[in-house]
Amino acid sequence: MEPVIKNIVLLRGLVSWGGFALFLISELISPYRKPSVSKAARLMTNVSLTLLNSIFLSLVFAAPTISIASWVAANRVGVLNMLSMPLWLKVSLAVLFLDFMLYIWHLLNHEMPLFWRFHRVHHSDLNMDVSTATRFHAGELSISAVIKIGLIYFIGADLVSVIIFESLLVLTAQFQHSSLRVPAWFENVFWLLFVPPSMHRIHHSVVISERDTNYGTILSIWDRMLGTLLKDVDQERIIIGVGPYREPQKLTLRHLLLMPFTRTIK
Ligand SMILES: [Zn+2]
Repeated sequence: MEPVIKNIVLLRGLVSWGGFALFLISELISPYRKPSVSKAARLMTNVSLTLLNSIFLSLVFAAPTISIASWVAANRVGVLNMLSMPLWLKVSLAVLFLDFMLYIWHLLNHEMPLFWRFHRVHHSDLNMDVSTATRFHAGELSISAVIKIGLIYFIGADLVSVIIFESLLVLTAQFQHSSLRVPAWFENVFWLLFVPPSMHRIHHSVVISERDTNYGTILSIWDRMLGTLLKDVDQERIIIGVGPYREPQKLTLRHLLLMPFTRTIK
C-alpha cells in the first residue's frame, strides 16, 4: 500500500475506533434503556463483522477511492471543478451532495428487494448501540463503495471533501445508533438539522411503516424535504429489529454473513 493511502486508512481507523470508544463509554455511563439481550454478545458479533469489513474494504476500495479523488482534483474533472469558488464552499457542497446521495441509496436499500436482502443484516440487530452503526454486510458496503467512486468522479470531490464526509458519516452514525441517553432539549434542537438517536430509533422499529422513514445519516433535511420524516412515535414502545428475527442465537456472525442469501423477509 502506498504511504498516502496507508496514512488515510490509519486516520479513518483512528476516527472510527475513537468514536466507538467515546460513544461506548458514554452509553455505558448513561444508557437510554436496559438492553433486552446480552450487550456483550452483540458487541462481539458486531465488532467482529466491523473488523472483517474494515480489512476487506481497505484492501479493495481504499486505493481506488483515494486515487479517483486525487485525480479529479488534479485534472479539474467533475461538476464542482467546472465552477470557480472558494475551497470551503466546494468542500461543503461536496459533503452535502454525498450525504444526499447516501439518503437516496439508503431509501433504495429499503425499497428494492435485492438491496434489502443485504441491508436487513444491519436492521436485524435486536438492540441499538454504537456497534450497530457499523453492522453491515460486506455486499452492501461493496456496492455502496463502487457507487461512491462514481459519485466522487461526477461531482469532482477532492480528497479533503471525501475525508471530511467519511469522518462525519461514521461519527454521526455512531451517535444516532448509540443507546446514549440524550437530554430532550438537545434532541429537539439537534433534530432541526441533524439526526439524533430518537429519530434513528424509529427507523430501526420492527413496524415496517416506521422503518421506512428517517433515512438521513448526517442531515435530517432530506427527510424533511422529501416527506419521509417521522417524529411522533412513542419512543418507549419501539421494538428494535426485523420482525422474523427474534432469537439472538440465530443472529451470530455466521448467520449475518449468510443472511442475504436466505429466504425473503419483509
Ligand atoms: Zn435502514
